[in-house]
Amino acid sequence: MDSPRSGWRPLNVGVVGGGIGGMSVAIAMRRAGHQVTIYERNDFAGEVGASVSCAANGTRWLHEWEVDVAKGDPVVLRSLINRDWKTGEPVSIYDLDDYEKRWGHVYNMFHRQYMHAMLKDTALQEEKAGTPAKLVVNHPCKNIDMETGTIHFTNGSSAQHDVIIGADGIGSVVRKIIGLNPVKRPSDSSCLHCNVDTEEAVRHGLVDYSQNSALEYWGGQEGKWDKIVLSPCNGGKLLSYYCFFPRSQGDYVNQTWGGEDRPVEELLNPYPNLDPQVKAHLAIGKDIQPWRLWVHEPYEYITRHQVCLLGDAAHPMMPHQSQGACMAIEDAAALGILFSPPYFDGNIVQTLQVYETVRLPRATRVQAAAAKAALNINERIGFSSNTNISNYKVDDEGKKLTIEEMNAYDMYKDIEEVLAAARNMPYAQSSEWKRGLPVDLFQTG
Ligand SMILES: Cc1cc2nc3c(=O)[nH]c(=O)nc-3n(C[C@H](O)[C@H](O)[C@H](O)COP(=O)(O)OP(=O)(O)OC[C@H]3O[C@@H](n4cnc5c(N)ncnc54)[C@H](O)[C@@H]3O)c2cc1C
Repeated sequence: MDSPRSGWRPLNVGVVGGGIGGMSVAIAMRRAGHQVTIYERNDFAGEVGASVSCAANGTRWLHEWEVDVAKGDPVVLRSLINRDWKTGEPVSIYDLDDYEKRWGHVYNMFHRQYMHAMLKDTALQEEKAGTPAKLVVNHPCKNIDMETGTIHFTNGSSAQHDVIIGADGIGSVVRKIIGLNPVKRPSDSSCLHCNVDTEEAVRHGLVDYSQNSALEYWGGQEGKWDKIVLSPCNGGKLLSYYCFFPRSQGDYVNQTWGGEDRPVEELLNPYPNLDPQVKAHLAIGKDIQPWRLWVHEPYEYITRHQVCLLGDAAHPMMPHQSQGACMAIEDAAALGILFSPPYFDGNIVQTLQVYETVRLPRATRVQAAAAKAALNINERIGFSSNTNISNYKVDDEGKKLTIEEMNAYDMYKDIEEVLAAARNMPYAQSSEWKRGLPVDLFQTG
């Protein structure tokens, strides 16, 4: 590691929330030389059983942090396939064969529980760089005294920290504590998720979609909410289906994940004309759970004093770019770099402001693009490059989110540019790089 900057010191970091983002930032801050304690409200017994995708912009940090990715038992994706709603014939294919060569890292599809366990093990393990993070379960955060940096928990205990990171998900308490009141509305679409056991599908004589190692979509070209998203995970043994339909056909806004499974009829009813091959998969679907979808307007800020937000607490987004987890990982990476010996000068408040300046614009662009892709799959990273298909149409060609913007992003360069401005210093690479992107890729919209 480079020699420490003057003023650098090890910090006592408190992380509220031990989900994907909380575990990631615990790893990043541990690697940066800090002591980390993670406070989780429950004991993980109800972890969500569904797939989570981790594109190259997330995978690169897993590698940088020396996470044992094999422990997450991922499927490495080979393509994105968009299929006709009724026939299942491919309409748009985005080939990922050269993905690793182009971007240096693969596109992983994890099962959420495996991904979480993989991150948790890395954060807590004795081996590898940094002090193992401490995990304290059954500690729901109730309040934070920002004068003293003290977290108060509902069980009556409290803990003092130099920096507090709110990684407490979409319903964040920390967000409220730092004074944010989200402007949000329920999405016009609903989502039910189900799992299909690949072996069982094959036993029923159904198509073995796991063979494609692809993220597959039915619908999405017609400006309708109806869309089926299939992602294979657990090495292909499990098929995870996200099924979207208009909220008028089933409203789950007031239901939470983890309740009793919904009956399979609720999953099938909205889809009278769906490709029979995939519909037969849904018919044997298990663990049918509603996913509440809320559209949040971007927040004006994500840090106050020595407290900041990360992941869904900071920028909850619709799932249509599959970037929620990746954005949480990128947030964690940004904090890890900013607080690392070569960059951190001891000024916590200024460092967190730089974090906000680095993270908000990029996460907000992805958030907006995720909402747009809900009704038009051509706006989805990857498919947004398939300009030669007959159905291709996007809102604004100049503003669409591209695979290049996501994966050519260099966070170190972004941080160096923003830090230089904060410290009133010139940024040496301004003719070639703008906000972490080669200048020709940088867009403001
Ligand atoms: C069903 C489902 C499928 C998804 N699929 C994808 C996908 O394919 N690709 C993708 O990129 N993203 C996906 N996401 C989104 C992705 O999981 C999130 O964007 C990502 O997990 C964000 O991580 P996070 O740490 O911010 O939030 P979470 O992972 O939700 O973690 C928040 C944690 O904080 C804890 N917590 C909450 N309140 C408190 C409190 N007061 N005190 C202490 N702890 C608290 C919670 O118990 C939880 O452990 C999916 C999400 C869901 C629910």
